[in-house]
Amino acid sequence: MNEISRRSFLTSSALGTAGALGGSAAHAGENTASSQGIYRLTREISVEEGFDLVVAGGGPAGAAAAICAARLGAKVVLLEATGSLGGMGTSALVSLWYSLTDGIRSVVGGLILEVIQALCRDNAASPNALTSFKKGNPVGAIGFQPEALKLLLDKLCHDAGVEVRFFTRVVEADADSRQRRLHGVITSNVEGLRYLRAKAFIDATGDAILADLCGAAARAAGRDTPKIMPPTLCAALADIDFEKFSKKNQQAMVEQAIADGFFSQADRHVPGVIRNGPGNTAMMNAGHLFHTNALKTRSLSDAMSRGRRLVQEYAAFYRKYMPGCENMQVVATGTLLGVRESRRIVGEYELNHDDFKARRHFPDQIAVYCKAIDIHVYDLTPEEYKRYHEEYTKLDKPKRGESYGLPYGILVPKGWTNLWVAGRCNSSDVKVNGAIRDQPACSMMGQAAGTAVVQSLRTGQPACDLDTAKLVETLRASGAYLPQTELSKTMTRAKV
Ligand SMILES: Cc1cc2nc3c(=O)[nH]c(=O)nc-3n(C[C@H](O)[C@H](O)[C@H](O)COP(=O)(O)OP(=O)(O)OC[C@H]3O[C@@H](n4cnc5c(N)ncnc54)[C@H](O)[C@@H]3O)c2cc1C
Repeated sequence: MNEISRRSFLTSSALGTAGALGGSAAHAGENTASSQGIYRLTREISVEEGFDLVVAGGGPAGAAAAICAARLGAKVVLLEATGSLGGMGTSALVSLWYSLTDGIRSVVGGLILEVIQALCRDNAASPNALTSFKKGNPVGAIGFQPEALKLLLDKLCHDAGVEVRFFTRVVEADADSRQRRLHGVITSNVEGLRYLRAKAFIDATGDAILADLCGAAARAAGRDTPKIMPPTLCAALADIDFEKFSKKNQQAMVEQAIADGFFSQADRHVPGVIRNGPGNTAMMNAGHLFHTNALKTRSLSDAMSRGRRLVQEYAAFYRKYMPGCENMQVVATGTLLGVRESRRIVGEYELNHDDFKARRHFPDQIAVYCKAIDIHVYDLTPEEYKRYHEEYTKLDKPKRGESYGLPYGILVPKGWTNLWVAGRCNSSDVKVNGAIRDQPACSMMGQAAGTAVVQSLRTGQPACDLDTAKLVETLRASGAYLPQTELSKTMTRAKV
């Protein structure tokens, strides 16, 4: 285990200008390895300052947070571990936005609506979207071209003045856990290690990496829960004949293939092939990687190689059993694993199953959503398939016109003053997290967090005590759909 000494940061005034050392390490010294398997790393690294906001992670949540905060005037740096924005939607090839409507009206607004409309305009979305969405009809799900989303997010960041740093990973935090204040983050990239100081921070890593580095309370799947929902390695497909392809008989064909002994695991839950553009392309979401812990490197690594083999197996299944897929090509698999569950923060409010069942709306809600609970099967037992099917398609499933609110407090690690989270690692119980982890909801959380940061910087209100009536008004002015009639200056907090 390495430890980076928190006392060894040189300020930029000590260095002249930020980055004056031209690299990360001024020198390494006092490095020691103990016999207990601990290596204490002490080194001086250059400091960069002048940022209002550091956003860690450029998925749907982080990209939205950065763009929206920058549009409101903040100086933002967006740190992304891969070479593109979009997170699961691009790097993991999960090229479907879902859910977008309560069956009567669209519940998505703000930046995500702008993004969807732009990709529809560019002919980079599935045909159902191109026809219905252009007419203004609500549509529940829209497939999109991942490459088009990457390009669009690059442009939106550029136009808003966001500085994007690709291949840059947040690896440490300089935080005062008693004052619940974060001073800076340490990044690692091709230039080595850097310290980035800022006034505010958003953790949009999906895995609550930054919040965890700060020592903020969090719940980790597999450590704090008995089970972990399995991930899937998704793939980009081409050469499907959509004139002939229909998903209607897919389940019957999966059962037939299982009976034929075709698969290496008898998995009856196959989301499958989803068209993601006007041509013959699709994404494939098939093959659960059971017993993967996305917070363990060896487990993640094993899942990637198992996932690549499973993708080939499912492609062979489609070619053999599903009309229209005879010539299907696997163009690529994701460079990121499709992780459904890893770590969630414990926030000022933890959205829970009772809230979900009551379709509760909140005065301080920052988004409204409508997706059913979607906890994929934990294992291959018949009980699990029954549980999944009932939960997703019947029990608790929001009916036409029903929705529930996402209160502001799910974005704030309990008591923290200048740290927010957005996206999948929000504060919610496992069931609700399984409903609100989808990209549109994550993007709306990102927009809310970015907007809250700017309000906090302008007013001095800390994250944990923000005027939420003002926040809701600003979000509404930016196009968010927030139908609550009563507003509240104080956030909804967990009962103690
Ligand atoms: C298999 C699968 C199928 C899904 N299907 C759908 C669907 O049909 N429709 C839908 O809308 N949603 C779907 N989802 C859910 C959705 O894609 C994700 O939950 C959503 O993308 C989460 O958004 P996020 O911004 O929180 O995190 P992510 O999309 O995971 O983005 C996090 C980003 O942070 C970066 N990062 C991580 N750690 C660091 C670090 N230390 N420093 C810097 N950067 C870092 C990552 O590289 C990544 O780009 C699916 C998810 C999976 C896994």
